[in-house]
Amino acid sequence: GLSIGIVGLPNVGKSTLFNALSSAASAQAANYPFCTIEPNVGVVAVPDDRLDQLTALIKPLKKIPTSLEFVDIAGLVRGASKGEGLGNQFLANIRQVNAVLHVLRCFEDDNVTHVEGGVDPVRDRDVVDTELCLKDLETVEKRRERSLKNTKLGGKAAEEAKAEVATLDRVKAALDNGITVRAQKLNEEEHALLQDLFLLTDKPVLYVANISEGQIGKEDSDPRVKAVREMAAKEGASVVVLAAALESEIQQLPESDRPGFLESNGLTEPGLHKVVREGYKLLGLWTYFTVGEQECRAWTIHKGFKAPQAAGVIHSDFERGFIKAEVMRWEDLVKLGSESAVKEKGLLRVEGKEYLVQDGDCMHFRFNV
Ligand code: GDP
Repeated sequence: GLSIGIVGLPNVGKSTLFNALSSAASAQAANYPFCTIEPNVGVVAVPDDRLDQLTALIKPLKKIPTSLEFVDIAGLVRGASKGEGLGNQFLANIRQVNAVLHVLRCFEDDNVTHVEGGVDPVRDRDVVDTELCLKDLETVEKRRERSLKNTKLGGKAAEEAKAEVATLDRVKAALDNGITVRAQKLNEEEHALLQDLFLLTDKPVLYVANISEGQIGKEDSDPRVKAVREMAAKEGASVVVLAAALESEIQQLPESDRPGFLESNGLTEPGLHKVVREGYKLLGLWTYFTVGEQECRAWTIHKGFKAPQAAGVIHSDFERGFIKAEVMRWEDLVKLGSESAVKEKGLLRVEGKEYLVQDGDCMHFRFNV
């Protein structure tokens, strides 16, 4: 599955956030043994209001949300790229995730030491990005040496190698100036060349500004939150503002006590929900639904999946034997109240192999076995 790695300096609230996410998981959470440098992995249900509405209408035996994997990546400190802390292990763990959730400490707490001396989220972000850029530099340099050797070959291979060296030189120069790969606006060809390097600063990023409970409701005037938002806006990244410690408390409460607790803290929903939704968006994921009396279920697809591919997410037989799909919009089903009502209005479509599945479609597949 696709995964999001939680990174940040020590004591910014990564584990607190991860634990809140893990206990929020209605799907299974697979925790690796604690106190090792193995990352913790949690499978988290993706909150989806559309699925809730469909379930309220259909009243199936089961509601099954789709899920997303989070990995708690520990051990990043200044100097990680040179092996400080758990440096190399940490960096190897980041290499394997599809996107990065960068937790930035915006809360003051004299009891919680700050490894860099004081609370400054933008500086923290730079410290982390610098380590990642340094590691990427190493990776790019190694690759450049190989490409350089290949320029000594004859003919087409030499031409290709020259083009590679030129690209790598540009990427390297930018990294040298602290510009992450994701900020370098590379074209498709350049990106293709870098793909198998799994560069750390090439991964899409989402920032979490971790505030204290007392800051809730005052985010817009909080200078640290403002600074994080400005920094993120410059690179076109999203920011979720939350209080990790409070999120963790919310998850300890029985379901029925949560709405009141949220309200008394000035919240309309747990910040975790935003994290999961934004993470899902960051990965370019869409959801379609299957609805029935047995279960209402959300399925994850990538933007651009055609109907047979989407069917293949349920079972490979569905993809192989795909004949056609009956499709309706989730809004239509909720608004009109039943599939037959949707059909009467002419809003139930029959689509073939070339149909591009849309976010929020309700699908019913016909297939040969
Ligand atoms: P990590 O090293 O980034 O994983 O940080 P932890 O999640 O272990 O948090 C470090 C310390 O900060 C712990 O004592 C947490 O209880 C505390 N902490 C985390 N989030 C918050 C928060 O939102 N407010 C306050 N006051 N403390 C927090």
